[in-house]
Amino acid sequence: MASERQIHVGPVAIGGGAPVAVQTMTKTETADLQATMDQILRAADAGADIVRVAVPRDKDAEALKTIVERSPVPIIADIHFNHTLALKALDAGAHCVRLNPGNIGGPDKVAEVCRRAIELGTPLRVGVNSGSLPAHLRQLEYDNPVEALVTAAVETVELMERLEFTNFKVSMKSTSVPNTIASNRLLSERIPYPLHLGVTEAGTKWSGSLKSAVGLGTLLADGIGDTIRISLSTFHAEEEVKVAWEILKALKLRERGPVLIACPTCGRLQFDMDTVVAEVERRLEAYEDPIEVSVLGCAVNGIGEARHADFGITGAKDMGMIYSKGEPLKKVRTEDLVDELFKEIDKYYAAGKLVERDEVEAAAAREWLAEEEDATAMTPERMAALEAAAADAEPIALDEAASPVAGRRFTRA
Ligand code: SF4
Repeated sequence: MASERQIHVGPVAIGGGAPVAVQTMTKTETADLQATMDQILRAADAGADIVRVAVPRDKDAEALKTIVERSPVPIIADIHFNHTLALKALDAGAHCVRLNPGNIGGPDKVAEVCRRAIELGTPLRVGVNSGSLPAHLRQLEYDNPVEALVTAAVETVELMERLEFTNFKVSMKSTSVPNTIASNRLLSERIPYPLHLGVTEAGTKWSGSLKSAVGLGTLLADGIGDTIRISLSTFHAEEEVKVAWEILKALKLRERGPVLIACPTCGRLQFDMDTVVAEVERRLEAYEDPIEVSVLGCAVNGIGEARHADFGITGAKDMGMIYSKGEPLKKVRTEDLVDELFKEIDKYYAAGKLVERDEVEAAAAREWLAEEEDATAMTPERMAALEAAAADAEPIALDEAASPVAGRRFTRA
């Protein structure tokens, strides 16, 4: 269930039906201004709506003032154990402060931070981690880790409400994907506040992306989650941002830049599609429009499967073809496929998003496609033709055609 409440981290709305916000966290020493700002800029360029920075020392809180001033996106200060640093981060102008009330030194310290946050109108992110639940929940954690996590989160929310502070979002972090899914489903039914989703310490770029896609994707598909962070073991925060966007784009929750569709290749492939796809992906990074581009390794299935793609290419040994919305545009030499594809894309934008088709070139491409197609393969077009023919025929003829012994006559010896 989507959160009812909405908060604002700087200008970015979180919850209450706002688009799911993408965030990441810098991996630099925050006080190293140059390195931190470089990473924030790269993350923002990759599409981060919000960036979080760790503030474990006084000098990091000091650096925050400059970072907040220079950053193109809102900054969240990440604080553990030390409520004084949370106060300093608020005073430095952080757009939000993340803290776990359970490890900040008791309710009085939390209350002090809340009072300052109310004065400044700054939101907080409060939460619980599966590794550091309060002592009274240890047995429950052993018996039912999901219920323990949710109980700890609800108790945190109740503490904030007793302190008359409601300008917050909530996170429950677990390294377990099933527990992340189950606990957030439960919590979303029990509280109206926005939820920050993440699988903590998800792992390397490869395994962490998969775990996050499964865990966060499952929740997001149900409408649960208002902001996400993909935690990857990489020094490049922008990599986390790219993964977050792929998840949101796959679920059609947000659009950002082109969508590349590529077949997995198989034994029918006759050209170096790996290189072609990588080059197409690289060049598409220069485009901001959510254009859909498809790369098919061969035309065995026809190009009907890529009918929804704005542009696409399919290749063979020496020649290939450019198409748009499932209709051929022109045939080109395989080595020119990528260049010609981007010429067509650029022409499309220059013409105000109109596809200009040269009918002579298109006819030559159709002819090439017909030659390339495997006459025995069941393309969508042939399937449609067969179905149409079958609909006109007698039912018995259809049965016979489908039977492995169609047309045979059996006689007793
Ligand atoms: S499009 Fe062709 S090369 Fe790609 S997976 Fe399908 S059959 Fe194989």
